[in-house]
Amino acid sequence: MYIPVPEINEARNVLVVSPHPDDAELTAGGTIALLAEQGARIIYAMVTDGSRGGLSPNVSEAQVAATRRAEQLEAGEILGVANIMWLGFQDTQVPEPETVREPLISLIRKIQPDFVISLDPWLPYEAHPDHRRASMAAVEACLLAALPMVQPEDMALGLAPWQVTGIALALSVNPNTFIDIDSTWEKKVQALKCHKSQFPGHIWDMFYPLILAKSQEYGRQANARTAEAFKVLTTTHLHIMVDTWKA
Ligand SMILES: [Zn+2]
Repeated sequence: MYIPVPEINEARNVLVVSPHPDDAELTAGGTIALLAEQGARIIYAMVTDGSRGGLSPNVSEAQVAATRRAEQLEAGEILGVANIMWLGFQDTQVPEPETVREPLISLIRKIQPDFVISLDPWLPYEAHPDHRRASMAAVEACLLAALPMVQPEDMALGLAPWQVTGIALALSVNPNTFIDIDSTWEKKVQALKCHKSQFPGHIWDMFYPLILAKSQEYGRQANARTAEAFKVLTTTHLHIMVDTWKA
């Protein structure tokens, strides 16, 4: 690949775009904790409130949303997240990326992150529409936030165009960066355990071995016991580049 890939370890100001409460911890929690320990400011953009992620039909959406918000705040605290911005889209009903990217473009211009962490929107077989749309909105927002003629109304609010240095996409089938998370593995696990509504005992017992096994598989790429994997790109990779899929 002719375009160099930036180092996520050098990130100092990070925006994490997460479709639901728990996705960031699951896919990037160890890296987020590591960056926070290194002094990076971490801000989450939570696209939905997770209100339809309850495991019982007898609990209202409002109750589920309140529970998940509290769980997410607790998890963020463990990882060292500075702030969580709730975008308020309806769980399972995230609209098309051109709608979701609007608040994300404004947020990127406001926060001025060097790195944006989200999910890889080109994950084959991803059936959850919120994941596909929220992550596509994230990469589109990174590309368009730098263009002064996109959302010119932002300028009136003092939000100037902003160019991110890098975009790190978790859940990628072709990751190019493996981050050793041995030192923050416990924080990741503790943060995940905060999401009790999503991982009650029997689900945790089934899920944890899968999370560990995948982290260990990635760890072999990083000479570590455990690692997280990302496809790290620049916005230059994200437009008219036929080689980006193998970058
Ligand atoms: Zn999710």
